[in-house]
Amino acid sequence: MAPTIAKCLSVRGTVQGVGFRPFVFHLATALGLTGTVFNTGEGVEIHVEGPRETVDHFCRNLKTKSPPLACITNLSTVPGVITGRSDFTIGASIGHAEASPFISPDVGVCDECLSELRDPRNRRYRYPFINCTHCGPRYTIIETLPYDRPFTMMKVFDLCDACRAEYRDPAGRRFHAQSIACPECGPQVALYDARRRSISDRDPIRKTAALLKAGHIVAVKGLGGFHLAVDALNDQAVGRLRERKQRPDKPLAVMSPDLAAATRFAVISPAEAKSLQSIERPIVLLKKKSPCLLSEGVAPGNKCVGVMLPYTPLHYLLTEGATALVMTSGNIGGSPVERDTDQAFAALSGVADYFLVHDRMIFQRCDDSLVHHMAGKPRSVRRARGFAPSPLRLKNAMPRVLAVGGELKNTICLTRDRYAFLSQHIGDMTEANTYRFFEETVSHMKHVLGISPERIAHDLHPDFETTRYTRNLSGVETIAVQHHHAHVAACMAEHRLTSPVIGLALDGNGYGADGAVWGGEVLIAETTRFRRAAHLGYVPMPGGDAAVREPWRMGLAYLYHAFGSGFRNLDLAFLSTLDVEAVGLTEKMISRRVNTPLTSSLGRLFDGVAALAGLRQRTTYEGQAAMELEAVAGKRLSANLARYPYGIVRSENGTHCVDLKPLIQAVITDVNSGVSVRKISRRFHTTVIALFTDLCVTVGRETRIRDAVLSGGVLQNALILSGLSRGLVKKGFRVYSHSRVPANDGGLCLGQALVAGSR
Ligand code: ZN
Ligand code: ZN
Ligand code: FE
Repeated sequence: MAPTIAKCLSVRGTVQGVGFRPFVFHLATALGLTGTVFNTGEGVEIHVEGPRETVDHFCRNLKTKSPPLACITNLSTVPGVITGRSDFTIGASIGHAEASPFISPDVGVCDECLSELRDPRNRRYRYPFINCTHCGPRYTIIETLPYDRPFTMMKVFDLCDACRAEYRDPAGRRFHAQSIACPECGPQVALYDARRRSISDRDPIRKTAALLKAGHIVAVKGLGGFHLAVDALNDQAVGRLRERKQRPDKPLAVMSPDLAAATRFAVISPAEAKSLQSIERPIVLLKKKSPCLLSEGVAPGNKCVGVMLPYTPLHYLLTEGATALVMTSGNIGGSPVERDTDQAFAALSGVADYFLVHDRMIFQRCDDSLVHHMAGKPRSVRRARGFAPSPLRLKNAMPRVLAVGGELKNTICLTRDRYAFLSQHIGDMTEANTYRFFEETVSHMKHVLGISPERIAHDLHPDFETTRYTRNLSGVETIAVQHHHAHVAACMAEHRLTSPVIGLALDGNGYGADGAVWGGEVLIAETTRFRRAAHLGYVPMPGGDAAVREPWRMGLAYLYHAFGSGFRNLDLAFLSTLDVEAVGLTEKMISRRVNTPLTSSLGRLFDGVAALAGLRQRTTYEGQAAMELEAVAGKRLSANLARYPYGIVRSENGTHCVDLKPLIQAVITDVNSGVSVRKISRRFHTTVIALFTDLCVTVGRETRIRDAVLSGGVLQNALILSGLSRGLVKKGFRVYSHSRVPANDGGLCLGQALVAGSR
């Protein structure tokens, strides 16, 4: 007989709240081993004893057979003391001062729970909070680690006898499931009208579905916050929601009960179907069918629509029988999504006719994530529920850095060892409530991840709220990182690149090292520093931020740039639509350089061309004009499209500067000869791709660098992303673009962290 040995194992990674202890228990019991397993603040500890070979077998299986949501990053083993115990148990958790840095994100309801939900004989039949160790809420309900019920929002619900038995049954799927619940003992839903009068009904969810069908707007409390729901096929209802929410154009996401329903109005590739059905359940941007069943008001002027499938049991019940419900974030203006029932009534009673709420508190707010399949890969556009706070593994170990992100689409990042933990999407920092959410998220993540930062990274912009935040901190080193360096570094982090790269930062606005507004940049970037190798020529940006909301200002700026004050003699449809006084005033601003910073932003060039082509003069959401310009161009660019001319000038210090005058003049010629907006847009896209490919080739020749990194908000444009990727590969570059982290400002914090951590 083999000698008896004992071993102590320390397991690190995502091993709490994912059914890991039950798995260990099953494995040990099946092998006839004795010992114990328990959670600590750092991970899971196992003491196991038995015959040597069996213990070895156990250790091997621990890694290879672990449950689907578990992710072991480190497993260390030391010899233990033989106690001679007769069974294997799950022990009490031990909290440590230093918490484990791994928390599972929230995951969609699993198939087994779903079949119980639909089984009339099951005691959880139609119970909207059904879950098990393989699925359900995590990040949004965890207050602190270890992941045990008393430290979650489930602490107020005392288990009934039946649930307690399941919780203790090692053979079951709910063995130590911390958020276990049933209709007897768990959270309940309730339906109210906008004045908070209770609507009593035997089945409030079915009643809500009927109210939606009848065209009402319902605020629905979900997993990470409230949604505003409305029938997506009902024009009037969608119109009313837009009017009340004061959101005229920005696309609204919809939820369909299943893939078959979504297929009725959207074109879905196998890869997109896979994303839709993944446990993260993001919103996936899909091409609308034409004609489209959905109300045009869901995503006006847009060829795509954001679609998600249900991810909580409540959503499954709510969408039964529907084709699609609008499920847009329950907030007003730039405020963060509402998570608290009282506050939701206060904020949304002017928007929603009814409220479907429940009594499980939401600890961490978390919006829906958004993914767009472009150039053969799923690309994260907004990283939140299902993904946060899962870390990204970095190439090298890092000091502890807090990176506070940018101003719009803000997210934050904390690093520890070789991991970067990105927060969920926080939002627009100019909004006071969002700023509070930001502060809360920083302190919560620092707390649960056990990270007290040694360095703080922020944007170079002196007036960003995030920059101001760092000024009030003492005792830590703060490091300013240029916006586009951060964009490129974020992509380098994602691909674990360390040697110098050519970084194409194609973006909206970012504060430049010379104080100008950058955004059409070719950088030679390392993790620690960068040099500006090429950029679009500067043009005035009359009115600063006002020019972002009003593309006609950029249209005028480019006209002035290309034709001087002689632009007034041009017979242009664009000019005739504008207010004469506004034109005069803006021209004065430009010629006298009053409140008119200079910009090299590609995003602004998109705006300017959209305005000159007569497509859009004013926007109601970020990037609207550029998105519409992309939409009119169609799915694919043909190879034989003539491009617009442009010049490249080399300055004394070796920087290449793009002269946009010929481009603008040619656009105007096209406009005046009645060339269609579609064709102008196609030629413009082709030109942008050619131009940056040219610059990359030139800089590549000078530096011998063959790695090209694509980042910045403009890379959300599918035509630009695929055109540039293809063009650069053809020129012999290895091309890297974003997939897991957004190319937009939602990814900035990761780049800031890498730069500050590498210095
Ligand atoms: Zn489940
Ligand atoms: Zn129960
Ligand atoms: Fe940016």
